[in-house]
Amino acid sequence: MARSSWWAVVLLFGFSYSLLEATAETKFFCGMPDQVNGTIAHRGSFLHYDGTLHIGTLYSFFNGTDGYLRWPVDKLDDMSYTFLTSGRVPMEDLRTAVANAFSTWEEHSVFLFREADLNEDADIEIGVYDGYHGDNIPFDGRGGIFAHGSKPADGFLHFDNAEDWSTNPTGIQVDLESVALHEIGHILGLGHSDNDWAIMGRYFGYGRTKKTLTDDDIKGIQALYD
Ligand SMILES: [Zn+2]
Ligand SMILES: [Zn+2]
Repeated sequence: MARSSWWAVVLLFGFSYSLLEATAETKFFCGMPDQVNGTIAHRGSFLHYDGTLHIGTLYSFFNGTDGYLRWPVDKLDDMSYTFLTSGRVPMEDLRTAVANAFSTWEEHSVFLFREADLNEDADIEIGVYDGYHGDNIPFDGRGGIFAHGSKPADGFLHFDNAEDWSTNPTGIQVDLESVALHEIGHILGLGHSDNDWAIMGRYFGYGRTKKTLTDDDIKGIQALYD
């Protein structure tokens, strides 16, 4: 790629970043820090470890003590999840939105997800909680952080009960499926992407939906597991 095109990419992303920052309703919506225990997450670069050049892929992974954090291979085609509490959200809305989000990741990865059987120890526990809820990552009330998800191979997905969750958001409602899609990305091993359009981008806002994986998200999950 010519140097001039490379700078065009940089400028494009730079521009979008300031646009997002200038938009009042755009929120930092996820509790996942970019730096964990002093280790900066790997940042997907333009020149990859396999020697191929990926233009515009800005995904990241989490560094572990033994390479990137990943789910064990024998888990990938049988990941179970369960719902502990739905808070103010109707359970059927939560169940449908989360199932849709899991399906979207399934379409583009090696993963297969299913709802856990009764009494089964599920791989991923999902709940909607207020404030302090037992994991030292308290929610902050309406606005700010909307939700958080774990890194591999912990499995939790928590939504802030103070938000006005919706499956068809308007006004200051927050879209359940869009946020689930982002947090599941963390659970599977993706950090934040510097591509603000990606599902794994840092920003989201009220009354919006973002339900489709971008090329950046897909390249990220496939680079981690395929
Ligand atoms: Zn996030
Ligand atoms: Zn939590």
